[in-house]
Amino acid sequence: MAGTFIHSTTPQKFMVRSFAIPQLMMLIVFAGGMEPSQAAQEAKPSASHLSGSGHQQTREAHWDYLGVEGPEHWSMLTPKYMTCETGRQQSPINITMAHHGHHAETLEFHYQTSELHELNNGHTIQVSHTSGCNVDLNNRTYALRQFHFHEPSEHHIEGHAFPMEMHLVHQDEHGHILVIAVMLKIGADKPVLGKLWKWLPAQLGQEVSVPLNLSIADILPKNTRHFSYSGSLTTPPCTEGVQWIVLEEPILIAQHDVEQFVGIIGHNARPVQPVGNRHIEEN
Ligand SMILES: [Zn+2]
Repeated sequence: MAGTFIHSTTPQKFMVRSFAIPQLMMLIVFAGGMEPSQAAQEAKPSASHLSGSGHQQTREAHWDYLGVEGPEHWSMLTPKYMTCETGRQQSPINITMAHHGHHAETLEFHYQTSELHELNNGHTIQVSHTSGCNVDLNNRTYALRQFHFHEPSEHHIEGHAFPMEMHLVHQDEHGHILVIAVMLKIGADKPVLGKLWKWLPAQLGQEVSVPLNLSIADILPKNTRHFSYSGSLTTPPCTEGVQWIVLEEPILIAQHDVEQFVGIIGHNARPVQPVGNRHIEEN
């Protein structure tokens, strides 16, 4: 659980991790502006779509959480967002009646202390890091790409929504996306989250470098008991094939921090989607 860094042996991973932030941002902008044919060739959702790109106005249809560009209209904004309407494995969901896993999943965090950068992309506050952070899920390694926040929570647990939800977006070497969701409830701030909040970029498109090295591991709850299911990106284009892990233990955030976030971003939660015949496991 502590921030041990496992060195990568594959050149591809090494390359990705050694990107400087401006290069990484360019990569994200590029990925966010991919043509559908390119996206289809990849056949995997892009991690940058998980919170949307602040630069999507040039190549992608603008979308929002309210009004005519709100969630119930996403599929009508452009054919690229059709899956938001036609998909049958959409996220978020209300997690209820989970089945206990037949064989326990192994989930290990290998996060380390890192320089952090916060971006206001208009849809959320997205935090990127410069040092390698991975999780191992059932012996498959996923690299942390970014994490960001929603208010109120997108997932519900037994019909209950939380004040906020954090999404840690990971990708493996084949492009498979794993998102780890952590619920936030009101209480005394954990020091790391409070430090992040001190530097929230208030302006659209603004990026702020946090002038401290912070341990992302210290943000996480102690208990890694979780629900898992197969879902989608919760923002357009709502691409499916995303592995979701929803941690059961919430972390704490101060009420005034929630209000500060809403003052900057507004409410940014997609409503829960039908579970259908999906299987939710608890481990
Ligand atoms: Zn998200």
